[in-house]
Amino acid sequence: MYYKQYGNTDMKVSAVGLGTMRYDMEDVRAGRLEKCAEIPLYAYEKGINYWDTAPTYCDDKSEIITGLALSQVDRSKVFVTSKVNFGTLGTEHPTRDTFRRRLEMSLDRLHTDYIDFYHMWCMLNLESWQKHVDALYGFFEEAKSEGLIRNIVFSSHMQGNDIETVVETGKFKGMLIGYNALNYRFRQSGIKKAHENGMGVVVMNPLGGGMIPQNPDAFSYLTEGTDLTVAQAGLRFVASHKEITVALAGCTTKAHVDDAVKAVENLVEEPAEEIVAKYNAKGPALNDLCTGCGYCKGCPQDIEIPKFMDAYNQKILSKKEDRLASRLSGHWNLPPEKASACIQCGSCESKCTQHLPIMERLKEIAALAQ
Ligand code: SF4
Ligand code: SF4
Repeated sequence: MYYKQYGNTDMKVSAVGLGTMRYDMEDVRAGRLEKCAEIPLYAYEKGINYWDTAPTYCDDKSEIITGLALSQVDRSKVFVTSKVNFGTLGTEHPTRDTFRRRLEMSLDRLHTDYIDFYHMWCMLNLESWQKHVDALYGFFEEAKSEGLIRNIVFSSHMQGNDIETVVETGKFKGMLIGYNALNYRFRQSGIKKAHENGMGVVVMNPLGGGMIPQNPDAFSYLTEGTDLTVAQAGLRFVASHKEITVALAGCTTKAHVDDAVKAVENLVEEPAEEIVAKYNAKGPALNDLCTGCGYCKGCPQDIEIPKFMDAYNQKILSKKEDRLASRLSGHWNLPPEKASACIQCGSCESKCTQHLPIMERLKEIAALAQ
């Protein structure tokens, strides 16, 4: 296993981490939790020492399953995470007790006295992030001073410069963000800034929500000169960034663990800039795709344009009409009728770095609701 230093801590973490939101749901629903726990135990055997979990994953059983495994290994050899936000606390005005109860529940489920990385979870934009900081950061610091959590980190779906703004506050030891061969061109500034500031960078969604392995022709360039599958190569692409500490691999089976291990065999780290130069030259032109850069933000109708355009990406890449609607509802929880709020002002198109026909695409999406 290839290990990297987590930011400016003394923690050596595996270049691939175990994402625990993909335990076998048939086993989860049948109560076969010990069977699910074989996955982290196998990952441990293979040297994967970064385990990322959270409340609610896998019908709220992920922490319990992960804890079953954690109780059977040398605790000091695993770095385990969990997460909290207003959603898991059930209120936008949490008290210290609410926060504590949630944290203690995670500790109990994980059979541990401490969590290595505790996330301020799923910050969608700067406004939401600020509200969470105002309400929760003091509770995080108190829990840290008592040794219940070791590092305060955040996870984010923010775009472009917003991540840099959070990084610059210096409040966090690390971050968890989505990064992959689809959106890398415009996520680089955030990961570079975090790396420069001594933060660890953990990546979720390294395979673009499955879009990369599901479109092997479009992404076969990632496998050139290797004996890797497209899925393995997509993971390696992320892990090979010098600025990225851990690429999370969601594993349902032991074969998925083996894939993750293979992806970082003999890993060579390179700066993000060099990776862009290399793949920009080699890869197909993905000109019709939204890169998630977020430069179109500021819609007067508050339409979340990058999310709609991300769903449109799925249609283009898969060449399947129904992927658009399933991405919107399944991933973003957005009804297509929200796209009909567009008043065709054109402001977003004038800012779009990919020069996408956003208004036309929104019309097409809105029509799905009829
Ligand atoms: S064209 Fe539509 S989506 Fe774009 S900024 Fe104007 S209202 Fe928003
Ligand atoms: S629609 Fe254009 S500006 Fe907006 S996120 Fe996508 S590529 Fe960037």
